[in-house]
Amino acid sequence: MDGIENIIERVGKTICLYQTYKVALRDFSAEDLKYLPMCYLEKYVSPFSIQQIWDKLPESYRQSPILKLNLPCYEHYNKGELQIDGPPPPIKSCFGCKQL
Ligand SMILES: [Zn+2]
Repeated sequence: MDGIENIIERVGKTICLYQTYKVALRDFSAEDLKYLPMCYLEKYVSPFSIQQIWDKLPESYRQSPILKLNLPCYEHYNKGELQIDGPPPPIKSCFGCKQL
């Protein structure tokens, strides 16, 4: 297992890279993701990327009502490979969810 310093360094470098091009968060292990601040996930990570890493996130993150609102809404948007409607919006800005 990696030392904490190594993990923080790796996660931090990846966050910096995110400024210029997309880094696949799905390549992070559950151990790495523990060091990713929740506020970063809420503010900067796309709904689809959050969905991809959801099962690896710490339990406390998955309990967060705010983070749940950042997941994509598949209930009101098609989930087909073609994404005819475009990628689904996060639940927090989904028009269909707001009407419930
Ligand atoms: Zn919705």
